[in-house]
Amino acid sequence: MARTEVVVLGSGFAGLETAFRLRARASEDDVGVTVVSERDDFLFRPGTVRLPFGAAEEPLHVPLHRAFRRRGIATVIATAEGIDLDRGQVHTSRGPMAYDRLVVATGAASRPEEIPGVAEHAHSIATPGALHRLGEDLRWMAQNARHGRAQRVLFALPPGNHCAAPLYELALMLDTWLRRKQIRDNVEIAFDTCEETYVQAFGPKLHALVSRQFEARGIDSRTASTLAEAAERSAVFADGSVREFDVLVAFPPQVASVGYAGLPADDRGFLRCDPDTRAVTGRPEVYAPGDAGDFPLKLGHLALLQADAVAAAIIAHRTGAQLSARRVPVVRHVLDMLDDAAFAQIPLSPGGDPAHVDEASARYWASTSVLWRAGARLAETALSARFRLGLPLRAGRAAFRHGPEITHRNTDTLMEKP
Ligand SMILES: Cc1cc2nc3c(=O)[nH]c(=O)nc-3n(C[C@H](O)[C@H](O)[C@H](O)COP(=O)(O)OP(=O)(O)OC[C@H]3O[C@@H](n4cnc5c(N)ncnc54)[C@H](O)[C@@H]3O)c2cc1C
Repeated sequence: MARTEVVVLGSGFAGLETAFRLRARASEDDVGVTVVSERDDFLFRPGTVRLPFGAAEEPLHVPLHRAFRRRGIATVIATAEGIDLDRGQVHTSRGPMAYDRLVVATGAASRPEEIPGVAEHAHSIATPGALHRLGEDLRWMAQNARHGRAQRVLFALPPGNHCAAPLYELALMLDTWLRRKQIRDNVEIAFDTCEETYVQAFGPKLHALVSRQFEARGIDSRTASTLAEAAERSAVFADGSVREFDVLVAFPPQVASVGYAGLPADDRGFLRCDPDTRAVTGRPEVYAPGDAGDFPLKLGHLALLQADAVAAAIIAHRTGAQLSARRVPVVRHVLDMLDDAAFAQIPLSPGGDPAHVDEASARYWASTSVLWRAGARLAETALSARFRLGLPLRAGRAAFRHGPEITHRNTDTLMEKP
C-alpha cells in the first residue's frame, strides 16, 4: 500500500499538534508528513499578553528544525497561496506540492479596517509587534500619570472577534501593573464589550467572576456596548455614547489568514467543517483544525483538541478503523491578572450550537487563585518542551478523549513511537 502523503499548512497549535500526533501514531512508511509554514518556529501566542508589561518575547518562540528532523517530518518554509483541489496540489511560494490529505491550519488574521478609525487609532493585540507597540504607549502613559496628568485607557471588544478572553486579561493585568507602580489613582481603565455578558463564550460563571474583578479593581465596564468608530482621542459607540481615551486597545474582528478558493467558507473565510473530524464540508481529503476552521471560538486549547481529531481521522482513513464520535470539547482557560489568576473549565454543549456552554454540567466551574498562574506557566513549559522534541502535547490514546476516538481494530499495524 502506497504511503499516505499528508501536507500540513501552518506551524501553530493546530498544524504542529496534527503533524506530531500523526508521527507519534504512524510510521514514516505508512504516513509521510510535510509541514509548510511561513515561519520555522512555533509562537506560543497566549504568552504574548505579557509583552506590554516587560516580558521577553524570545522564550515564546520554539525552534522546530530539530524536532522535524528528529521525527522524520519534512518541512518547507513557504507561503501557501492556494489549492488545486482537482489535482490534489497546494500552490506555495516555492512551487506546487502534491498531497493525499491536506491539513489547513493557517489560523486567523485581524481586520481592524472593519471599524472606521480602529486601524489608525487603536492598538491591536493580535501580534507580538502590536503588543510591543502597546507596551511602549503604556510606558508613556504611565510616565504622564506619574507626573500627575490623569490618563484614560479604554479597552474595546468589537463584533467579529472570536477570542475575547485575552483582552480581558490585558485590562486586568494593566490594573495590577499600575498598582505596582503606585499610579493607579491617576489612570482610569474602561472596558466596553459588544457581548451581552463578560467573556460570553465562557458562560455565566466567567461573567460573575469578571464582574467581581472589574468592580474590585475599579474598572468602568459596559456590556452590549459596540464600538462604532475611533478617532484620535475618542471612541463612538453604537448607542451614540462617546468615551475619551489616551490609549485605546482593541482586539479587532478576525478573518481567515488565507482565503482558499473552491473550499466552502463562512463570511469571514473560515472553512466550513464537520464538527467531529474537522474535515472540510464536501472535501473529505481536506481538514481545517484550529482558527482556520469555522468553530465559533478561537483558542489554542481547542486547536489542540481539533488537531488530535484530525490526526485520528487521517489514521482511521488509512487503516479503515472506525471513528466513534464524542463531541464534548471541554475548554480550559487561565485568565492571568499578574497578581492573581482565574481558571475556568468550560464543557461545550454536546448537541446544537457547538460553542454553547453546557451550564448544567458538573464539569463547568471557575475559580480564582494565584496558583493558577503557576499552573498556566507549567502548561506553557510542557507544551513548548514537547513541541521542541517533536511530540504532541497530548500523549497516548487518551489524547482522543475530547475528540473522535479511534477504535483499535486496524491501528495495531501503525507503529507507536516513543
Ligand atoms: C494575544 C492572544 C492571547 C491568546 N491567549 C490564549 C489563551 O490564553 N489560551 C488559548 O487557548 N488561546 C489563546 N489565544 C488564541 C490562540 O493563540 C489561537 O487560537 C491559536 O494560536 C490558534 O492556533 P492555530 O494553529 O489555529 O493558528 P496560529 O497559531 O495562528 O498558527 C497559524 C500558522 O499558520 C502560519 N501561516 C499563516 N498563513 C500562512 C500561509 N499563507 N502560508 C504558510 N503558513 C501560514 C503561521 O505562520 C502560523 O505558523 C490567544 C490569542 C492571542 C492573539
